[in-house]
Amino acid sequence: MNLKWKVGDTTITKITEITYPEFPDLIPAATPEVVKKVQWLFPHFVTPEGKLSVSIHSLVVATPGAKLVVDTCIGNGRNREPLAIMSNLSTSYLEDLIAAGYPPESIHYVLCTHLHLDHVGWNTRLVNGKWVPTFPKASYLMDKKDIALYGSIDEHTPDAFMQMQRRTFADSVQPVFDAGLAKPVEGPAEVCDGVRLVPTPGHTPGHCSVLIASKGEKALITGDFMHHPIQFHDPGLSISADVDTNAAIATRRRVFAEYADTPTLIIGTHFAGPTAGKLVRDGDAYRLHV
Ligand SMILES: [Zn+2]
Repeated sequence: MNLKWKVGDTTITKITEITYPEFPDLIPAATPEVVKKVQWLFPHFVTPEGKLSVSIHSLVVATPGAKLVVDTCIGNGRNREPLAIMSNLSTSYLEDLIAAGYPPESIHYVLCTHLHLDHVGWNTRLVNGKWVPTFPKASYLMDKKDIALYGSIDEHTPDAFMQMQRRTFADSVQPVFDAGLAKPVEGPAEVCDGVRLVPTPGHTPGHCSVLIASKGEKALITGDFMHHPIQFHDPGLSISADVDTNAAIATRRRVFAEYADTPTLIIGTHFAGPTAGKLVRDGDAYRLHV
């Protein structure tokens, strides 16, 4: 069963591509000793041994007027070396999306919170040897700063991650431009009634989160300004893939202060288990109440 949340008249559905019960070295400083001091993380977000769990999923947002897919995961059949655990997947993502009632042609908008490989993969699919947009009637919104960074990677750069991102752009973003479906934006941006992109920079320069509002209720889809609920406990815990570590930490502190002790549902783009909850103050830190 797909997890679902109701925000006023809007429904948000989680379509899981793959779950990593123990994601290797996600946050190097979050050792099992550190994790074990944060008891509320158990059992949903960490293993009994104190390893961090990660989920890769899309969040389908159905408002009364439009259907949106927020982030399109990794995709099948991609070489994403040096990330072996994300390479050459063969999942039932697309079938699962259809079974949930959201065939690709029913989608009006695809929102890419940023352009990393695990957020744009199903932007396209392979048809007769060619990468073509999976969602043929959608506008694909992505921030201009991320397009500038990841659309111009030097093919001779020695950085293996950036080389992989160059291939990702070529097979998962460029075909969307070629089909005329890309809509570069500069956050903040109104997507449609009740859905906004809000800048949460640091992980990437153009990173945006998604704010949903309906009938006085609200939800925030994080994207990757954070990767794991342990960062509510300590916003200073960072992953190595943040483009600007200090900006990412500042974004976490700002967003947590804004939403703590409010009724806004926080939906994590990589949170495992229940995936969503309310943010509450917990002494000097924060905790996700699920
Ligand atoms: Zn990610």
